[in-house]
Amino acid sequence: MAFTTANTVEEFRRNLDDVQRRIDAAAMRAGRDPQSIRLQPVSKTVSEERIRNAIAAGCTRLGENKVQEAKWKHAALLDTGVEWSIIGHLQRNKAKDVVAFASEFHALDSLRLAEALDRRLQAAGRSLDVYVQVNTSGEESKYGIDPDDLPELLMSLRGLDSLNVRGLMTLAIFTDDQEAVRRCFQILRRLRDEMRDLDPELVGLGELSMGMSGDFETAIEEGADVVRVGQSIFGARPTPDSDYWPTAAH
Ligand SMILES: *Cc1c(COP(=O)(O)O)cnc(C)c1O
Repeated sequence: MAFTTANTVEEFRRNLDDVQRRIDAAAMRAGRDPQSIRLQPVSKTVSEERIRNAIAAGCTRLGENKVQEAKWKHAALLDTGVEWSIIGHLQRNKAKDVVAFASEFHALDSLRLAEALDRRLQAAGRSLDVYVQVNTSGEESKYGIDPDDLPELLMSLRGLDSLNVRGLMTLAIFTDDQEAVRRCFQILRRLRDEMRDLDPELVGLGELSMGMSGDFETAIEEGADVVRVGQSIFGARPTPDSDYWPTAAH
């Protein structure tokens, strides 16, 4: 996939407009209200200077995979008031950093991590919006909990008052086969529906965080409420995906 790098505010406006048009078209195809879909821009590896231009072009909340990177960017961009979503795997000893500045966490994948976050949140007197990450690809190396373990985790989360479960998140299988990708999104949607049938309270709003630059239109067709898009807004990343998640052989 070819990505157009944006540096200036004008270039960011153009890329954001383009992505929004594609979101709208995918929503229309699926008979959905485009307004109900949230674009979550992902700014990993992007410099402070370029991020400032993206914010000037309209980005109000940025996603980062790694909490260390998010931490310095949060500090550097405090004056902009931009909000931060942590979207990548988190180690328990980093829970305090997330609690210190993030408004959202998309990769909750264990009860122990949830408990660590909850303890810190209680101490800080605040709450955090979270999405539970599910492994829908069956790839051993992929983060996220096994679908079979989802009901139990969601039930346990109900006891942790400072975590607001907004829904489920997934990364699709890494392949050019869009039908295999689509199946991952269908699995996440079916799991959401099954959890709702079990108990309407279990998945909170029941939102689905799924879809990235290479597959967000497919994700929207399958019910995505939040799409996490980096390269289609900022341009191709210099770093390989294996820096962010363990990838199976391609
Ligand atoms: C980087 C990242 C994205 C965005 O990927 P792009 O290919 O840049 O759109 C989405 N989700 C997660 C968890 C990521 O780390």
